[in-house]
Amino acid sequence: MNLIFLGPPGAGKGTVAVKLKDEKKLPHISTGDLFRAAIKSESDLGLQVKAIVDRGDLVPDELTVAIVKERLDQADCQNGFILDGFPRTEAQAEALQKITNIDKALNFYVEEEELIKRLSGRRVCKQCGASFHVLFVPPKKEGICDHCGGELYTRKDDEIESIKNRLSVYKEQTQPLIDYYNNKQLLVDINAAEAPENVFTSVLNILK
Ligand code: AMP
Repeated sequence: MNLIFLGPPGAGKGTVAVKLKDEKKLPHISTGDLFRAAIKSESDLGLQVKAIVDRGDLVPDELTVAIVKERLDQADCQNGFILDGFPRTEAQAEALQKITNIDKALNFYVEEEELIKRLSGRRVCKQCGASFHVLFVPPKKEGICDHCGGELYTRKDDEIESIKNRLSVYKEQTQPLIDYYNNKQLLVDINAAEAPENVFTSVLNILK
């Protein structure tokens, strides 16, 4: 099954995608994760995109599409995949259509106030990448990862100015894709304001 996860930053797409990956044995392709890995390794791509990602702007379509195309060509994607955070513009959606078919686009929706609360409280482990939240998933010891003892930090793009920018970029450039996939009769709405286990159950029911 070829799936797209649409929705604003902070809607919990990544959390559901990780669980669904295990449940359905589908590769989880997060363009955000691919860019963050490139930035961490200081590859050419990473150096090219660091400032853009830190500000919460979108990486140019051409570059993003090329990375996704390369990833979708790999053997593990031939029986399906979960695309998380791609496409984010109409040009990306058009390019994706030329690469492969999509079975469903899941639209995770949450109120903006809740998104800001979720994003600004997020903390990530420098060492293993595990994600925590100061209110919802606090680590046992403040600032320290429960899994590996690594230091927790706030992603640059989870600082308030970047959050506001990411939400406005989402509204302008990505929200129109809801209509785009609705018109193709591929869209399914998911109320992502619910607790994570309920959101996951809704997703499983939709994919039955
Ligand atoms: P995410 O973790 O999905 O919120 O992505 C983090 C950042 O990576 C975004 O704010 C963008 O700078 C960049 N990014 C991720 N996916 C895309 C995409 N499909 N198109 C352009 N930029 C992207």
